[in-house]
Amino acid sequence: MGIVAARRISQGFFLLVFGWLCLVATLGDGLFELRGWPVNWLLSLDPLPALATALATGSLYAPLLWAVPAVVLTLFLGRFFCGFLCPLGTLNQISGFLVRKGLGRPARAEDNRPGPAQGLKYALLALLLAAAVLGNVQTGLLDPLPLLTRSVDLGLLPLLDPRQGLGLGQAEARHYDGAWVFGLVFIAILAANALRPRFFCRYLCPLGAFFGLLVRFAPWRIGKATSDDCGACRRCEEYCEGGCRPSGKLIASECVLCLNCLARCPTGRIGFAGRASAAGEQPLPDFSRRGAVLVLASGTAGLVAAPLWSVGGVAGAGRNPGLIRPPGSLDEARFLARCIRCGQCMRVCPANVIQPAFTVAGAAGIWTPTLDFRLGRAGCLQNCIACGQLCPTAAIRPLTLEEKLGQGDFAAVGPIRLGTAFVDRTRCLPWAMGRPCLVCQEVCPVSPKAISVREVFEPLRAPRLTVAGVRGTEVTVAALAPVGRNLASGDFSLRPVGAPTQPPRRILGASGVQLTLAAPLAEADTVPGRELELVVRLEQPHVDPARCIGCGMCEHECPVSGLRAIRVSSENESRSGPGRMVADAAPQGGAPCLRKQLPA
Ligand code: SF4
Ligand code: SF4
Repeated sequence: MGIVAARRISQGFFLLVFGWLCLVATLGDGLFELRGWPVNWLLSLDPLPALATALATGSLYAPLLWAVPAVVLTLFLGRFFCGFLCPLGTLNQISGFLVRKGLGRPARAEDNRPGPAQGLKYALLALLLAAAVLGNVQTGLLDPLPLLTRSVDLGLLPLLDPRQGLGLGQAEARHYDGAWVFGLVFIAILAANALRPRFFCRYLCPLGAFFGLLVRFAPWRIGKATSDDCGACRRCEEYCEGGCRPSGKLIASECVLCLNCLARCPTGRIGFAGRASAAGEQPLPDFSRRGAVLVLASGTAGLVAAPLWSVGGVAGAGRNPGLIRPPGSLDEARFLARCIRCGQCMRVCPANVIQPAFTVAGAAGIWTPTLDFRLGRAGCLQNCIACGQLCPTAAIRPLTLEEKLGQGDFAAVGPIRLGTAFVDRTRCLPWAMGRPCLVCQEVCPVSPKAISVREVFEPLRAPRLTVAGVRGTEVTVAALAPVGRNLASGDFSLRPVGAPTQPPRRILGASGVQLTLAAPLAEADTVPGRELELVVRLEQPHVDPARCIGCGMCEHECPVSGLRAIRVSSENESRSGPGRMVADAAPQGGAPCLRKQLPA
């Protein structure tokens, strides 16, 4: 078997592994279950998250140590990761091959001629690492493994979900806010291969740039055995995926080890050996002065942009109260220093409540996870800790159920709080519309419930009734105008006009002008001509911030469509001090902070 065939088999294998791991990241009761699969293994092999999070936090999360073998092998063999392993590289290679199939040989060789634009990825790497040094890890925006994971998990898999029915949009299928952007980016990356083979790898990939810097001292590399002039066949360059000029002065950092040159050379001049190419080598793409300035400027831009992102009130006390992070998330600064925007947490959440942030987390937090209780299928499920188990960088730290619920050893600390629910009295049905509703109180999963109700009786906006006759609990009125409500639902009562302290008599049945009450009216109120009013029993919700854990069940189930009448905001969240400013709740660890006194 030739080396190119071996490379293809390896690429196919890792592509399948990648696809499979994306599938099993979907928590479910079907075939593709999370349990037991090393879902993050491929992401852990990627050295860029390890490097960026280490720069940002000064520590290395142990599972990311898988990146060390990848780095060591690259130091010895070159960019094997790009040629043999990277699933996005494989997809780029396949799509490039398909869209360029009809090209003639000279055109193909011409397309693989190296150019200074290949230095752009080094500039991007400098920008991203500079931002990471200042605590903001943005590498995941362009790092191929998080990028592909995000695209497949959030853009492609929902499309292939049989419950989605390819666009029929059944309720159970997953959906993600702005998924079309991920789809579009993915399509654009594949389509760009029509311009140049492996366009993304050549010009944009920061991981490729990182490997390119590592291979500088690799003892084994592609090269020519002799410096003889080759003539003009350029067969090696027809399929050179790296655009690294194997026929002449080889650009070592750009070689992605596709090994096509080695297999194509009709004279066998090119080999993979423990020596430099006899025809000469150039360590990096020919930047020229302009390219070097670009790299420098990008690094500086990264250093400037990172603090700029935090200006404008997105951090600290002025941050967006709508930014609810998944349970177990680190405080915002440490979260942004770890999250690589891979989307694994979004994919695994069975409630589909974790959504990619677009504006809510500011520029620094684009595509990081945020909980959207309107889009999800439920609030954060009480007995679920999946997101923290799957996060490859521990931006969401793995919790136990006991810790999440504040039980056992964690009883003294209390449950993990995502925020606090607030009733919007201008939209709440019992508060604003005089309509009975008890949904939020009923669905609150906390025990004892964090939502209590206070019963009030409000006169219905309807004409007063006049007693025509009374027999026990049967009251006949002179006329009953249609009120558009089911008076026999148990929520409505009769009360004599001018007697607000008298207990209203609940209506059990309504037929024409005859009403059946739960209890008879007082003797004095049965005289014909006595005026009665219809009242509605309302149970107005109140949230106890000391009990509310911000799970969002109430917000999700609230029947007020659009902007819900009860909404969770990040106040009193467990993960950070500045958010804990409202409730007189049990301390959750972390620095104490001033608390506002709630009005009695
Ligand atoms: S813990 Fe909550 S947010 Fe995390 S995966 Fe489970 S339901 Fe989703
Ligand atoms: S928080 Fe979510 S998107 Fe960020 S690294 Fe963890 S799993 Fe990936």
